Amino acid sequence: MTPRTRPDLESIPAYVPGRSFPGAVKLASNETTVGPLPSVQKAIAEAAAGLNRYPDNGATELVAALSHRLGVPPEQVAVGCGSVGLCQELVQITCDADDEVVFSWRSFEAYPIITAVAGATAVRVPNTPDHGHDLKAMLAAITDRTRLIFVCNPNNPTGSLLGKVELEQFLDAVPDHIVVALDEAYFEYVRPEPGEDLADGLELAEGRPNVVVLRTFSKAYGLAGLRVGYAVADPSLVTALSKVHTPFSVNSLAQRAAVASLEAANELLTRTDGVVAERQRVRNALVDAGYEMPPSAANFLWLPLGERSAAYAEAAAEAGVILRNFTGEGTRVTIGDPHENDLFLHFATGQGRALAGLA
Ligand code: PMP
Repeated sequence: MTPRTRPDLESIPAYVPGRSFPGAVKLASNETTVGPLPSVQKAIAEAAAGLNRYPDNGATELVAALSHRLGVPPEQVAVGCGSVGLCQELVQITCDADDEVVFSWRSFEAYPIITAVAGATAVRVPNTPDHGHDLKAMLAAITDRTRLIFVCNPNNPTGSLLGKVELEQFLDAVPDHIVVALDEAYFEYVRPEPGEDLADGLELAEGRPNVVVLRTFSKAYGLAGLRVGYAVADPSLVTALSKVHTPFSVNSLAQRAAVASLEAANELLTRTDGVVAERQRVRNALVDAGYEMPPSAANFLWLPLGERSAAYAEAAAEAGVILRNFTGEGTRVTIGDPHENDLFLHFATGQGRALAGLA
């Protein structure tokens, strides 16, 4: 007899990670191409010597370092096993069965999965025609069962960005018993145009106890393999998060590496300038080749290829570049090193043009 599991798991898709295979250039998972700094590697090696002990479940040192850097009291900081761990914990602390979680769609593909795993209902609000969040429609989607709203800014996978004023108006209109998670996993890649209003979740959360800001060490800080992210939230929410947190799930190597990365924050954040310059270069080349695509505020670009996306990503993989395919919707391309981006551009402006319907 087959061991019995929850029948509803049948309808929950498994998370699909970006593919990779040896020798190919991987532009599928929005990672940083550069390995950890020597100072961070040293911290990891030192922490490795103490792996016979459990990690500090309260991540005291990391919470203190984040509190210092972000200028918020430590009671307002929670760390998680990646920011995806915190996304999951947020669903767990807000939702009972059949409660609703609202988010824009297409967005981060973990949102519907963690919602369904918690037995809650995902309410997907279609993106605007220009691939951004439709905040009006998201407000209209709120019901008396809504407990949590994810706002992904910049949005994965489309790269769209919400401005401060529109986000403020949205937050003011959301009933204040509903938790709003501002998922800013790609915040460090945002470069507002001169005169443009930058939406900084930490500022928006001030005076709004229902707003939670999520950030991560996986992207700009280059620690995707260690799994550590953080939330800034009202102390009551931080306490609630601690109740559902899988004990010791932020391991000691991750904690020490994150502290060492904060010590080297300026150096790490300077690296994002190179990614942003490459983002512009790659997008310009694609637009010149005839691609119609939205601008991106993150470390990836979105090609809205619709039904053509699967064949496009498949051909790119055969050409040695792994992209992220969203069948029927589009293809996401992470910005890598210049030579990796060149390999992608060689495909995209050559063989890829016909597959994208441009030739
Ligand atoms: N939020 C968004 C929007 C993401 O794209 C990702 C990673 N793909 C995450 C959260 C989770 O990142 P991590 O768990 O590595 O911090």
